[in-house]
Amino acid sequence: MSGEGAAAKTTVTLEDKTYDVVVLGAGGAGLSAAIEAQAAGANVVVIEKMPYVGGNTILSYAELACPNNWLQEEQGIKDSPELMAKEMWEGGGKVAKKEMVDIVVNNATAAAEWLRDEIGVKYQDYLVQEGGHSVPRAVEPIELGPGMINPLRLRFFFALEVYIRRLQC
Ligand SMILES: Cc1cc2nc3c(=O)[nH]c(=O)nc-3n(C[C@H](O)[C@H](O)[C@H](O)COP(=O)(O)OP(=O)(O)OC[C@H]3O[C@@H](n4cnc5c(N)ncnc54)[C@H](O)[C@@H]3O)c2cc1C
Repeated sequence: MSGEGAAAKTTVTLEDKTYDVVVLGAGGAGLSAAIEAQAAGANVVVIEKMPYVGGNTILSYAELACPNNWLQEEQGIKDSPELMAKEMWEGGGKVAKKEMVDIVVNNATAAAEWLRDEIGVKYQDYLVQEGGHSVPRAVEPIELGPGMINPLRLRFFFALEVYIRRLQC
């Protein structure tokens, strides 16, 4: 990596490096993908255009709608991926690609559990019922977006190579 540190613009050249996986964007999705790719043995780099990580994820409530999650089981709330898919699709004006909706509903709970068990995200012990949902099904990190991003970035800074845009003053 070489940098040209002009005041108004920073140029980063990665031509002399080779990676198995290049992740653009250090939000919740990018950090998660990078961590998993590295865990699978890939040589990974994350490139973030902003001078900080977290994207919209760190600003968000980070509530994860996930059917049949551990809190629903504790509280005896009946739910299913099929019910969530129906409500997502209808709530989105019936224009979403159904195969994309299915990916979300069939993987959301495993993703929330991965964040909890592998990354260390701590959740509230209550559920949130979002608009368009017929049952409470969203789990919420303690400290919301930062409560999700901070454990991710701790893991990521120690383990991964990252290039973040230089602060421009
Ligand atoms: C106030 C608020 C509350 C929300 N609450 C919720 C909620 O409770 N539950 C929920 O499910 N969703 C919520 N959302 C939506 C949710 O935050 C987003 O859907 C989610 O964070 C998207 O994650 P992401 O990793 O895909 O994108 P981001 O977290 O936005 O990350 C994308 C990253 O890519 C970087 N980037 C973009 N272009 C480039 C480029 N060309 N090169 C390098 N880097 C690039 C950006 O700078 C950013 O860091 C909320 C959003 C907001 C704003």
